[in-house]
Amino acid sequence: MRVVVAGGAGFLGSHFCDRLIAEGHEVVCLDNLVTGSEANLAQLRAEPHFAFERRDVCDPFTVAGPVQAVCDFASPASPVDFARLRLEILRVGSAGTWNCLELARAKGARFLFTGTSEAYGDPLVHPQREDYWGNVNPVGPRSCYDESKRFAEALAMAFHRQHGVPVRLARIFNTYGPRMRLDDGRVVPALVAQALRREPLTVFGDGSQTRSFCYVDDEVDGLRRLLDCDDPYPVNIGNPRETPILEFARIVARLAGAPESIEFRPLPADDPKRRCPDITRARQLLNWEPRVTLEDGLQRTMDWFAGQLR
Ligand code: UDP
Repeated sequence: MRVVVAGGAGFLGSHFCDRLIAEGHEVVCLDNLVTGSEANLAQLRAEPHFAFERRDVCDPFTVAGPVQAVCDFASPASPVDFARLRLEILRVGSAGTWNCLELARAKGARFLFTGTSEAYGDPLVHPQREDYWGNVNPVGPRSCYDESKRFAEALAMAFHRQHGVPVRLARIFNTYGPRMRLDDGRVVPALVAQALRREPLTVFGDGSQTRSFCYVDDEVDGLRRLLDCDDPYPVNIGNPRETPILEFARIVARLAGAPESIEFRPLPADDPKRRCPDITRARQLLNWEPRVTLEDGLQRTMDWFAGQLR
């Protein structure tokens, strides 16, 4: 396949590029580097089947030659970005995804969209199945991301229904691993960096809110399988092991051999109280489930962050 990966210089997108190249596919990676980094692609630079183009997919574009798949990973994704890049986020979920869908349509390619568990907002149904419509505050501080991703799902379905574009919609739950930005503010890089620096671990609220953390290799494997499947409706790709954030902080401290020093901070507005995927659809459609334990994945992530900090 020749695959266009929008947002391919980001954390998740770059791992997806690695996977495609390892399988022998050709990759055209597009990224405006607003949150992505060329350092994430250093290992691919010498690959003859890999090309990087610095471009903002929000501006209309085309890619010369045949394309079999367009994979849209382009969006800032951290709550810190929601405050810093809210208009960019809304633009990439609307104009950016629209342009990626136009490319897929023009090339007769399939389209993979990286949607989010944020589509469920602060969920009233637990665990979250794909047929739950969510509980999103449309005017809150996270709305730029939640609604941009929800709009993009609606857009992809419209291209599917109107133009017959084969679309694949992933809903990604909290994913972590090497190449996360140290300063992106999300709980994994924040707490791992704090533990390595022997600083207190910042837990927001009382730490009883839960998240379900998926290691990046598992996530990429689920997305890769989704690209090959034939179902246009959303599929949760996440790890169903649910962990309260305070417990997560204790695991991080233990793995780092750091003292369990916790600093409680106010809970941000609209912070979802519980989040856990029901992955029945992924199991049935993709024969997929995560394999890497939280402890193993965190250890690998910590080793990588330790290298970065050095
Ligand atoms: N969080 C925390 N300390 C931090 C950063 C985040 O306790 O330094 C909490 C945050 O309030 C949320 C959870 O960890 O409940 C996951 O936050 P993250 O920003 O990683 O992603 P989210 O799932 O909220 O988008």
